[in-house]
Amino acid sequence: MDLGLADRTVLVTGGSSGVGLATVRTLLAEGARVATCGRDADRLAEAAATLGAGQDRLLTGVCDVREADAVQRFTDRVATAFGGVDGLVNNAGQSRMKRLDETGAEDWRDELELKFAGVLHPLQACRPHLRASDAASVVNVNAVLAKQPEPRLITTSAARAGILNLSKSLATELAPEGIRINSVCLGLIDTGQWTRRHAAADTGLTYEQWQSRLAADRGVALGRLGRAEEVAYAVVSLLSPRASYITGTSIDVCGGVSRGIL
Ligand code: NDP
Repeated sequence: MDLGLADRTVLVTGGSSGVGLATVRTLLAEGARVATCGRDADRLAEAAATLGAGQDRLLTGVCDVREADAVQRFTDRVATAFGGVDGLVNNAGQSRMKRLDETGAEDWRDELELKFAGVLHPLQACRPHLRASDAASVVNVNAVLAKQPEPRLITTSAARAGILNLSKSLATELAPEGIRINSVCLGLIDTGQWTRRHAAADTGLTYEQWQSRLAADRGVALGRLGRAEEVAYAVVSLLSPRASYITGTSIDVCGGVSRGIL
């Protein structure tokens, strides 16, 4: 099926790795023009080099989503180069592995800032362009933690729940402007986040053995971690104009780790 994304412009935050990079790759394969950002210029350049897209299709920029002015400048660049913005994927971020007693006031502040700024800054910057598009769609990359908190990720779980709630409000408020807003809630996805944790854990297990044990411990029904491309397909289908009647909802991409029915 043609997803209708050819020559549309999509801004993906955090596209130098993992889910963001897989989303950029999938969008390019659909014929979209893609812009992406991250904080580390070298990582971004390395990732871009793997994509084999020309400057007329792919634009990258160093930008921290916590800084509103930097996000605005990057968005202005994208809109000027590509003539607008039709889609936005708020993906940049990471989780904070801490329990209550390990969590200080700064952790709470930093985590809430990253999660809320990561949605609100790009949305505010892109909003005039999205309003002008005839197929505007925003996808917030979230986690099943939003609905199923884990004490070992206490700040991230709380922030994720707030973002899921915010996504619903934004979907209602921006619907009259023709902007759809949906979320994907991830379980355990095999990306840099997990290779870093495997290295830090120093268990003596290979990465594959460690992953299988992790999936079993966490009760992943499909018995494995997800792949970044598996998330990208869900994100891209929500971005597609074919999903024109879907807004204010969320899709779990989690291999069945989510125990809830909503
Ligand atoms: P990765 O660590 O592989 O990639 C994260 C990307 O975000 C990188 O490109 C990174 O680049 C960028 N980034 C991080 N912080 C910022 C920032 N402040 N400003 C701009 N860019 C930033 O992560 P994943 O692909 O695994 O995760 C993608 C999203 O999915 C994240 O929001 C994550 O929390 C969420 N998620 C992931 C899960 C998983 O199991 N993998 C589970 C649940 C949610 P740089 O560091 O150079 O800035």
